[in-house]
Amino acid sequence: MLKLYNTATRKTEVFKPLGDVVKVYTCGPTVYATPHIGNFAAYTYWDLLVRTLKMNDYKVLRVLNLTDVGHLVSDADEGEDKLEKGAKREGKTVWEIAEHYIDVYLTNYAAMEFLPADIVARATDFIEADMRAVDLMTANGFTYETQDGIYFDTSKMPSYADFARLDLDGLQAGARVGFSDKKRNASDFAVWKFIHEGEDHAMRWDYLGRPGYPGWHLECSTIIHEELGEPIDIHTGGVDHIPVHHTNEIAETYAAYGKELARYWMHCDFITIDGQKISKSLGNVYSLEDLASRGFSPMDYKMWLLSGHYQGTRNFTFDSLEAARNRRANWRAKIAKCYQLNNGDKEKSDVASVFDNILAAVNNNLNSAEACAIIDNSDLSLDDWKKVDALFGLRLITDTPDIAKQSYELIRERDAARAEKDFKRSDEIRDLLLKQGIALNDNPNGAIWYYNN
Ligand code: AMP
Ligand code: ZN
Repeated sequence: MLKLYNTATRKTEVFKPLGDVVKVYTCGPTVYATPHIGNFAAYTYWDLLVRTLKMNDYKVLRVLNLTDVGHLVSDADEGEDKLEKGAKREGKTVWEIAEHYIDVYLTNYAAMEFLPADIVARATDFIEADMRAVDLMTANGFTYETQDGIYFDTSKMPSYADFARLDLDGLQAGARVGFSDKKRNASDFAVWKFIHEGEDHAMRWDYLGRPGYPGWHLECSTIIHEELGEPIDIHTGGVDHIPVHHTNEIAETYAAYGKELARYWMHCDFITIDGQKISKSLGNVYSLEDLASRGFSPMDYKMWLLSGHYQGTRNFTFDSLEAARNRRANWRAKIAKCYQLNNGDKEKSDVASVFDNILAAVNNNLNSAEACAIIDNSDLSLDDWKKVDALFGLRLITDTPDIAKQSYELIRERDAARAEKDFKRSDEIRDLLLKQGIALNDNPNGAIWYYNN
């Protein structure tokens, strides 16, 4: 039985799918810069969600969007477009920036061993559908026009504040002086922005007889409408999305189509690094490549993420990353042992399955931390390990390949030589194995071998 915490109800609920296929939507990245490790926190936990659904025999249809347009630097429909900013920084066009960073993202996704989304949707492929959505919102009386663009009138939606438990009066009182030139209520937001004479905005489309571009919440409600149909089962994102982005996606869907957007909403919290937020000025915007240059693989980082829970802030340190790397190495050493037993070196491995307990932990609102503790403290069969790898996507099995019996015998002979302090023989065997493409890592649990290519 799968239980998930639902932000919409603020309760942990038994998951009940709406139909035969579980529809999942993940708010994806804005493709304007190299992703940092904080960005991968969310995608790791949503990858775990999809893998967990599949392990529970649900069919899943998952959409990931790529924000390649119209995402302003602030949530308040102000500031610079992130893609325009990237283009200026790198002396390229916005289209080149989007192309390049989509490539970077997809390469990083593969490196993180995420299951590919069934549909990857680019915001720029949905502009006409965005316009149709604005037409509908307008026809239904939810928008008004200002010199800045088409705005959503949040006062027209009685339940607007419910999802995020917003204090609208407080928001209004705290709003910046002068906002009323652009919009009527502090919580109103642009569904379409106009581009004025002389304004430097390369991505532009004609709508209502003038150039403009969509407001940034619109792509998600549009893509869900076009690709999945409302309501979907599960909508995921970061906690930062709750008060503005997701609240506004819900409002747009209500105003355009009169529908509920999603049944379950899941949000992961932020990670800090050495107790600080991730920021350029602190020099801690680490990418996967930065981790690699310090000797940590994407799987080590994924192990670190899965060692904690998706809710609640987590603090990243290189010491804790090293602990995660060791944990994964230990697991691989245990898998290597399983291969050894299965190859008939000793009596056949005969341990009861503990996978049900591992899955039960994860089924409890994705408690991967507890699942990891169970794995640490149990003897798993090779079959169980294969299921753990399918559940976590940690490349445990592919990074720990089975090897020929003759090589096992050499490794055992070397273990014995080392036990007798016959280092000459032990080194000879190491060299011999290296010639067969097999390298060894000595470890308190015994040597771990891996293909050296
Ligand atoms: P961006 O591509 O910059 O819009 O970022 C995408 C998402 O990554 C954000 O909306 C957050 O949900 C997530 N994110 C950014 N920083 C962190 C962090 N430090 N920890 C966890 N998630 C983060
Ligand atoms: Zn979204």
